Amino acid sequence: MKEYKIVVLGNGGVGKSALTLQFVQGVFTPHYDATIEDSYRKLSKIEAENARLEILDTAGTEQFSGMRETYYKSAHGFILVFSLEDKSTFEDLKLTYENIARIRGKDVPLILVGNKSDLIGTRQIDQQFVEDHARTLNIPYFETSAKLNQNVAQIFEECAILILKR
Ligand code: GDP
Ligand code: MG
Repeated sequence: MKEYKIVVLGNGGVGKSALTLQFVQGVFTPHYDATIEDSYRKLSKIEAENARLEILDTAGTEQFSGMRETYYKSAHGFILVFSLEDKSTFEDLKLTYENIARIRGKDVPLILVGNKSDLIGTRQIDQQFVEDHARTLNIPYFETSAKLNQNVAQIFEECAILILKR
């Protein structure tokens, strides 16, 4: 069975764990421990073939370290998450993206995700702005809600499809 190693990156609090647990376990966990970094496995079908997704839900505040570099080298694909209600979490992904691009090149499988789309009232980032930005970098962009389970499976499956098509 084909295996897809996907790493989920982004600032603390953007919803990396909520997205991962919603996808893998089908539940929204509102108070998940921010310090837990763990990998999860889920069997899925990618382009009609059985597949095993191995998802690393990262944690910790360090933007870049030797540990992080190891993931960057071994992962097949990346999901970069920011929160739609916090503009700084989008800006901080620029450095993450530059580090990945430096180590893996610009055509590494990568998805950009704006999470917490259910919080319309506190939204800080315009959808069109991010879409235009992502298009110039040729990166697929999704808006998700881990809470309402909107677009959650799509981000993991789309990342796997990008890996498959590489
Ligand atoms: P992580 O540090 O990136 O792993 O973030 P968490 O998954 O722990 O989520 C941080 C906080 O945001 C938690 O209180 C979650 O309940 C909340 N959260 C995560 N995803 C969503 C979402 O889609 N909508 C809303 N409203 N809250 C979310
Ligand atoms: Mg977490």
